[in-house]
Amino acid sequence: MAETIFSKIIDKSIAADILYEDELALAFSDINPQAPIHFLVIPKKPIATVNDIEEADKSLVGHLYWVAAKLAKDMGFAEQGYRAVMNCNEHGGQTVYHIHLHVLAGKPLGWPPYQDRLKV
Ligand code: AMP
Repeated sequence: MAETIFSKIIDKSIAADILYEDELALAFSDINPQAPIHFLVIPKKPIATVNDIEEADKSLVGHLYWVAAKLAKDMGFAEQGYRAVMNCNEHGGQTVYHIHLHVLAGKPLGWPPYQDRLKV
């Protein structure tokens, strides 16, 4: 898989505002936040898109959601709620080809996204 900006964040060759790290995953603030709270949870294993998740990765992807929920509780927004989503490929709006869970919180978020697009 081609190296991405996220591989450089994982190996610490570029800086990020790291919120959580363990042997499998890393969470850091999004550089261009789309909500009052916006961070990304990524696997250290490079997986390009949701389509590339293999059977052996199922627990790893579940772990990303566990990290998201842990941070939501630790940061105090779990009860109010949040969105945790992965964008896939062009129509999903994916720009970095290393899977990442967007965690967005801190205000009521619009849904469904297609209606949001029509309002713009
Ligand atoms: P996506 O468009 O779903 O692929 O999301 C990629 C996200 O990565 C965007 O929300 C970007 O703002 C974010 N991003 C790109 N480069 C960095 C970086 N160096 N540090 C933190 N977030 C980044």
